[in-house]
Amino acid sequence: FLDVDGPLNPYAAKPERRPEGYTTIRVALHPGRALRVWLNPDHGPALLRLGYELCWATTWMDAANRWIAPVVGLPDLPYVDFGTGLFAERPDGVHWKTEAIVSYAQGRPFAWVDDEQSPADTVYVRAHHPGPALLHHVNPRIGLREDDFAALAAFVAL
Ligand SMILES: [Mg+2]
Repeated sequence: FLDVDGPLNPYAAKPERRPEGYTTIRVALHPGRALRVWLNPDHGPALLRLGYELCWATTWMDAANRWIAPVVGLPDLPYVDFGTGLFAERPDGVHWKTEAIVSYAQGRPFAWVDDEQSPADTVYVRAHHPGPALLHHVNPRIGLREDDFAALAAFVAL
């Protein structure tokens, strides 16, 4: 389960300085308002080499296939449809993505790559997901790097 903003787009990096290896796209999600997104064309091939079934788990939902996938070098991917749960804060502190991700997984082992998981999500996943799960946190100032790919490779090899 792959988030976009944070892991692929290091949105929290210094705004005046595009990180090395990244390219800039400007996405007009709303008329008159363009969103700047940094993307790394090496990320797609590196993710594909890991051997996971990849799935978007992002506020971009299916728009990730239009805007993000071609730039990072990924094919069209399935996505978690968060529906009315998008951005819906929970009183228990569990991330609004977590329940939908666990439900989508249907007990299959999964890794979730995101910049917003918290300990409450680990607790939720342990309680509701019978299979192995890796909640892999990525720093949104940095995005996916070599050590992240190594951690994901180690998990898929288990
Ligand atoms: Mg994010």
